[in-house]
Amino acid sequence: SITLRDIRKSYANGPRVLHGVDLDIGDGEFVVIVGPSGCGKSTLLRLIAGLERCEEGEIVIDGRRANELPPQDRNIAMIFQNYALYPHMSVLENIAFGLELRKVPRKTREARAREVAETLQLTPYLDRKPGALSGGQRQRVAMGRAMARDTSTFLMDEPLSNLDNALRNAMRTEIKTIHQRLGATIVFVTHDQTEALSLADRIAVMKDGYLQQFDTPAAIYDRPANRFVASFLGTPK
Ligand code: ATP
Ligand code: MG
Repeated sequence: SITLRDIRKSYANGPRVLHGVDLDIGDGEFVVIVGPSGCGKSTLLRLIAGLERCEEGEIVIDGRRANELPPQDRNIAMIFQNYALYPHMSVLENIAFGLELRKVPRKTREARAREVAETLQLTPYLDRKPGALSGGQRQRVAMGRAMARDTSTFLMDEPLSNLDNALRNAMRTEIKTIHQRLGATIVFVTHDQTEALSLADRIAVMKDGYLQQFDTPAAIYDRPANRFVASFLGTPK
């Protein structure tokens, strides 16, 4: 589980970008974060992953205070908005990379990477470099790198935003399957309301660094907390 208590954050000398965010994410829950560009979605994910520090507030991961824990000790896999693959490494090596950092033996690493590649239908491309892949294939490699790690918590920052519609739908189904099969906890950022409504157990709606509402899609649809939430998710009010 992930608990955020009164998180406040500003970047060096800049204005505050998160103004006291509280969030409780249960084990196995699929939480989708939505909100306009610049409202603090990526910042929130980076704080959970340990890639940023907050000035105030508490981050608790699986019952342990995590504010000072380095990313590698948080047991969380993050998939970035621009999916940062290593251009000089093959698909197989990219997927196995997370395990290399954790000193898993080479044989085990490769076997695990092949297994994940099979699930994501990447087996034909194992020896290619990312430069020779389509956007969707690259996206699946990024997903594979996160999945190869022995973790059940995934943070995904608009992982489908660069894909065409068909692939987007396919990957959405894929993520849903991964969620169910692994019983994984997923925190997923998107701009796409269809994606939010179809994937989420609960949706967190943000605006200007404030959490506006955190509830099930049905509850948000039926009882939006304010006009912003109503208009953002296209619900009547
Ligand atoms: P988008 O939907 O465009 O990805 P976002 O909701 O993910 O937006 P963030 O990237 O979290 O927004 O940014 C929140 C605010 O913090 C913005 O005003 C942004 O300009 C600022 N910000 C983000 N990263 C940094 C940084 N490294 N240094 C300074 N300011 C930053
Ligand atoms: Mg972002």
